[in-house]
Amino acid sequence: MRPGAGRRRRLAALALLVLVAALGCGAEKTARPPDLILISIDTLRADRLGCYGHPLPTSPEIDRLRAGAVLFREAIAQAPSTLASHASMLTSVPPVRLGASFARRRALPESAVTVAEVLQAAGYRTMALTAAGQLAREFGIGQGFEVYRPRSERQQAGAFWPRVGAALSLLEAPDPRPVFLFLHTYEVHHPYRPDPATLAKFDPGYRGGLGERIPVGLIEGINRGEIAIDAADLRHIERAYEAEIVSVDRAVGRLLDWLAASERFRDAVVVVTSDHGEEFGEHGKVGWHSHTLYDELLRVPLLIRLPGGEAAGGEVTLPVRLLDLAPTLLELAGVEAPPEFEGRSLLPLVRGTATRELAALASLDDGSDASHALRLGGWKLWDGRLFDLASDPGERIDRAPDHPARAAVLQRMLAAELERRFAGEAPAAEIDAAAEQELRALGYL
Ligand SMILES: [Zn+2]
Repeated sequence: MRPGAGRRRRLAALALLVLVAALGCGAEKTARPPDLILISIDTLRADRLGCYGHPLPTSPEIDRLRAGAVLFREAIAQAPSTLASHASMLTSVPPVRLGASFARRRALPESAVTVAEVLQAAGYRTMALTAAGQLAREFGIGQGFEVYRPRSERQQAGAFWPRVGAALSLLEAPDPRPVFLFLHTYEVHHPYRPDPATLAKFDPGYRGGLGERIPVGLIEGINRGEIAIDAADLRHIERAYEAEIVSVDRAVGRLLDWLAASERFRDAVVVVTSDHGEEFGEHGKVGWHSHTLYDELLRVPLLIRLPGGEAAGGEVTLPVRLLDLAPTLLELAGVEAPPEFEGRSLLPLVRGTATRELAALASLDDGSDASHALRLGGWKLWDGRLFDLASDPGERIDRAPDHPARAAVLQRMLAAELERRFAGEAPAAEIDAAAEQELRALGYL
């Protein structure tokens, strides 16, 4: 990637911001900036983790992390699909202003400023190990990563384990720079191929016709109405998904154990989150995402383990957005956020010095750029419908007719958000045959 003049100016400006931030913090800055590890478990619903209240033992390791971390009870993704959501997470800009779109095969433009670019300019060693797919190099998410290694996963239990191993090899390198490591896995994404023993434990009474593996073709057949399933089958599909979480969780535990045993990384910041959830029949589809802006697709886990055990075991109940994550990482690093970032650091919420919820915008990546939802104060406006998330968490009743004034206010806010859109030409993402095959296996094509 050849940096153009504009890009060089931008990065020089970032370096200046870093300098200003360093000077501004005085004596406190003598401490080494923290190492930052961001784990994105693709397609992971918050409500399927033990620490978010799920009754099955899906996540003992993440639950262990939770004891030393802050848990965000209501973290909202800005898109229900992989590229758009990660692009927003890493740039702190909502998808509507980014231009990155899998549906249109458009990459994140070079003009976008990613948290990795800012950290790299600040002297961080930036590394990303992703499961390719919508995070393949062609889609532009690698900006600012000194190491960007997209590798497709074998769609089976334990797929994340070797990626964690590769990450540990990178962390072992004798390099004094602080680290920003981004880890991503598709292991809980469909097709569901869990460890059969775990699935048997999670769904012991199942006598239906579905097997231990839930292929994409089966899911598509169900969603097209060609294959009928009953309640026990649906539960079996959900249990298969949940059993996949167990093996991802085990790999997270491998990383946590390694960090705990490391002098250097013991106090690293660890973030566990996801880019979007998964639907299990709430609104007509099973084992699917990217197609709606309902909460089963937008609510994701968010756990942040802060340095020095700050706020360990704490919880933030106010809704937050994934685009707030990048500014949070920068504040932890002592680096000023660039003006392009629209999110705000979550640390004031953790520390109780901020108490205000900010509106969360979410958008479909369906190629039309026409469907957006805005959420604030327990209400969600989506395509003119208004949902009361407290009394109607399933989002079944349109309350717009009963609350016209509230709907009008949210509609105005949404319209203001949509006035400012990405206006340039995002670069086309050329996909080669291997990438196409892989995207097909994930059900994207
Ligand atoms: Zn995804």
